[in-house]
Amino acid sequence: MTQFDIEYDVVVIGSGGSGKSAAYTVASESNLSVAIFEKLPEFGGTSKFAEGQGAAESIEQKERKVPFDLTGEGLPEGAHFPTREEMIQAYLDTSHYRASSEVVNAFVDNSGETIEILRNLGVEYEYVSCYAVGQENELYCFHQPKGGGDAVQAVLQKACEKADVDMFASTPAKELIVEDGKIVGVKVNDADGNELMVGAKAVILATGGFAQSPEKLNKYTNMPWIGDTFQPPIPGLQCTGDGLDLALSVGADVSSTVPLQSGASTPGKMFGAGTTNAGLQPALWVNSKGKRYVNEEVALALMNMGTVYCQLRDGISWTVFDEDYLVFLETEGSALAMGEFLQVNKPIRNARPEIEENFAQGDPTVAKADTIAELAAQMGVNADALQKTVDEYNAAADSGVDPRFHKPAKYIHAIRKAPFYALKMCPVVVCTCGGINVNRDMQVVGYDEEPVCTGNLFAVGNDASGLYGDAYTIDVPGSTNGFAHTSGRIAARKAIEIIKG
Ligand SMILES: Cc1cc2nc3c(=O)[nH]c(=O)nc-3n(C[C@H](O)[C@H](O)[C@H](O)COP(=O)(O)OP(=O)(O)OC[C@H]3O[C@@H](n4cnc5c(N)ncnc54)[C@H](O)[C@@H]3O)c2cc1C
Repeated sequence: MTQFDIEYDVVVIGSGGSGKSAAYTVASESNLSVAIFEKLPEFGGTSKFAEGQGAAESIEQKERKVPFDLTGEGLPEGAHFPTREEMIQAYLDTSHYRASSEVVNAFVDNSGETIEILRNLGVEYEYVSCYAVGQENELYCFHQPKGGGDAVQAVLQKACEKADVDMFASTPAKELIVEDGKIVGVKVNDADGNELMVGAKAVILATGGFAQSPEKLNKYTNMPWIGDTFQPPIPGLQCTGDGLDLALSVGADVSSTVPLQSGASTPGKMFGAGTTNAGLQPALWVNSKGKRYVNEEVALALMNMGTVYCQLRDGISWTVFDEDYLVFLETEGSALAMGEFLQVNKPIRNARPEIEENFAQGDPTVAKADTIAELAAQMGVNADALQKTVDEYNAAADSGVDPRFHKPAKYIHAIRKAPFYALKMCPVVVCTCGGINVNRDMQVVGYDEEPVCTGNLFAVGNDASGLYGDAYTIDVPGSTNGFAHTSGRIAARKAIEIIKG
């Protein structure tokens, strides 16, 4: 029999939205003891940065009756809050039925309750709407909390503390302890690096996926280059797939592909930066060979845009435009919406100052020149190739027909008035969505789809697969954050049931 230093009924690994939701559920809905072990010195994980949660038939939607009009220009005809059935169907359709019906149903059926619980704990919702206004098919299920994810995590943190959840920071989980095929605990390293044996009747893996592990990104996403080309959205995060490693050590099945929640930005900068705001626009995008590679209108479908960037083997794209287009962005505004960062038809005012400042500082991600040849030299692309691309693009602007990629004429602006600009862009991996296969109770399953370790090991949030196919979709905005909180609760309830018999 293993000797333990400390024992709990339920041990949760990771303190983001999924982990805290799981621990709070155990503490508030049973008399079982529960602890969270967190690798970083701070609690909250990537959940602190998430903007909002997706849910169907929530109390907020029922009370508000109609979605909030984000642009103030009137909602499109037929805009409505989705039913659970509509939301379930959206996941199945956009995943080409590769999503797990069990996981999708479990999430959507319980998603509304998540909003109610968070609201009762003190989260205030500012509005419920969609996220990328103008993106076709997007559901009005995005619940925007006041203060964003940071505020939500602060509320949950307080709730956990009040409910007597023990929380240990700087204490990474290292190994699952198994006896007779059953999980009986976890080895963790305490803040001083000492190994601690923690006994547990159930363990919930909530380690946030593996967006900060280049090796795992290359291995599990079907894009074996992405680990070398991406940049993280926030420095300092540590979601390195520890949950996946732990689950694999006891026979878990790995999803055949793990979609990425991804986007693009200027290298070294975050969403909302002026150069990123301009670089995301559907102007002319060229690869490192100076060639166009996609209908840039994909910028309007945010996550598809991220997928496109992720496909670039060297991760390099340049957004090219001229002085007239920069004025257009300053006066007519953005073509795409991106939550709090960009709104359709709202002027982008921070682009020019940042471009000028960065260029003056010799930043290699910003090119500005009076000729296309000089611009190409700064970009490090073949001048003839870029000139040919610009000539073809200008011809498309003049004729209104884009014979190669069929971008609508309204997004094709000729590149004729110097100075010419090029902004370097790269893929951003926001988070990974899944890896460990689970059933509808979030129990980790093996290849035979049966729970491993007699069912007392769970995976939740970004660690758990099932909601998506091979691509994350933002047709259902706030999915991963809504899922994190909801899946944590689902796992906790099953753990309580198992432990109580
Ligand atoms: C900048 C940004 C913006 C986002 N915006 C949105 C959004 O608007 N909507 C949306 O739906 N999603 C968004 N997301 C995605 C977000 O990751 C998910 O929504 C969700 O919050 C993930 O929750 P989680 O609990 O699975 O992971 P996390 O919140 O990341 O928590 C995992 C925790 O586990 C810890 N951990 C890792 N390994 C160990 C270990 N060995 N031992 C102990 N602890 C460990 C990590 O340090 C981390 O604290 C965003 C992500 C980022 C980075």
